[in-house]
Amino acid sequence: MKPVTRFAPSPTGYMHIGNLRSALYAFLLSKHEGGTFILRIEDTDRERFVEGATDVIKETLKITGLTYDEGPDVGGEHGPYIQSERLPIYREYAKKLIDLGHAYYCFCSKERLESLHGEDGVGGYDRHCRNLTQEEIDAELAKGTPYVIRQKMPEEGVTSYVDAVYGEISTENKELQDQILMKADGYPTYNFCHVIDDHLMGVTHVVRGCEYLTSTPKYALLYDAYGWERPTYIHLPLMMGRGADGTVSKLSKRHGAVSFAALLADGYLSEAIINYIALLGWCPKGTENEFFTLEEMIRVFTVDGINKSSAVFDYEKLLWFNGEYIRRMTPMAFKEAALPFLGEHSLPEDKLDMVLSLVQPRIEKLSQIREKIGFFLTLPDYDATALFPNKKNKVTLENAKDLLLAARDTLSEAPEFKSDALFAALGAKAEELAVKAGAILWCVRIAASGQAVTPGGATEILEVLGKDESLLRIDEALKKLS
Ligand code: GLU
Repeated sequence: MKPVTRFAPSPTGYMHIGNLRSALYAFLLSKHEGGTFILRIEDTDRERFVEGATDVIKETLKITGLTYDEGPDVGGEHGPYIQSERLPIYREYAKKLIDLGHAYYCFCSKERLESLHGEDGVGGYDRHCRNLTQEEIDAELAKGTPYVIRQKMPEEGVTSYVDAVYGEISTENKELQDQILMKADGYPTYNFCHVIDDHLMGVTHVVRGCEYLTSTPKYALLYDAYGWERPTYIHLPLMMGRGADGTVSKLSKRHGAVSFAALLADGYLSEAIINYIALLGWCPKGTENEFFTLEEMIRVFTVDGINKSSAVFDYEKLLWFNGEYIRRMTPMAFKEAALPFLGEHSLPEDKLDMVLSLVQPRIEKLSQIREKIGFFLTLPDYDATALFPNKKNKVTLENAKDLLLAARDTLSEAPEFKSDALFAALGAKAEELAVKAGAILWCVRIAASGQAVTPGGATEILEVLGKDESLLRIDEALKKLS
């Protein structure tokens, strides 16, 4: 049987990268064997409902290429795929569970339940309604008393399951609460409806974060109560973040951007993010390679490569990955990705292409483009006395002016304002003056850019600026030096 997996996010309004990793692993697991990947929206917690959140989820899966075979917009034989559209199904199965003797109506008032809690606010339900007679139940129902439906947990014994990553997980049944399956508002709880859906949708492998690891015996008991075959459980290690003080805790905003959209906005590439988070908790077998396309991941992904120990999200490492991905892009792909990060600019198309080719090897995320190219657009105000002197190139405040004047002569006579030709001409001029070519080029670069470190060398910058602007900037420098 081919695996059927699902990604079952709650529409919270953003895609946490921990969730995205769950989606990725579920996708890879099913696709590795040509199985089915389902998207199901778990929106039964109406208080947490966020308008438009489902679109964020769908958009993320689209950008990342985690294509689902069944889901809210694509349909499928197990729909609907949005839980709030499946309420009659949950009611029917809750009734069924009552008939099977594994669930019961609870009519306890809020006040009564609150009185059960200790001062610390904790304390379990005392199973007050667990053994009501049928007459008592019928009477309350006839009166229209609000009720919830609770799971009737076994009082003795142990419930265990074998998690594919964490091994055997067991719980003493006497520790289990009679958890609510259906709430008074007619909505199911996650604890109930995800089990019903996973079964009805034929899910064979449940892949999700390990926060569900210890509550899964309760879900396994539901499968047993209906006489259904349990799925294989694959819980994923926590994604952690390292704080400024070195301490490690669950990855959250205080560690950095944690949503997929925020990372994209910061100039990370979808492919780099996916590649990086794939390796956070999974180690491909038999290869040292760290770079994987989605297709390659599908090919090599196996559950036994998933680690138990929590993985620390390393922003430096992601940045490095991203830089590698940027360098591997075709110029066209880079341009397309870079355009939204350029902001206002007046560079003509051919100059823009040249600027992009200069920055592509020199940035690690797209949001660094703007600061890298700023000087092409406007000459920054700079301190000539600080920038011109350079030991290595034998440039001093005294000779800088002469070097620039010589460069200006050469440039103003240059028939063609192209980097290679300018490089040759300035080199020849240096030879004529018996100075190092580096000395002239250094001065030209400072004058043309107003900064010591630039993407590209002096003559590449000149070509982008064009003759008029280049000469203007050199004049500006000469003024500063006098
Ligand atoms: N809606 C749950 C969540 O977003 C899904 C957990 C699961 O995959 O079962 O955490």
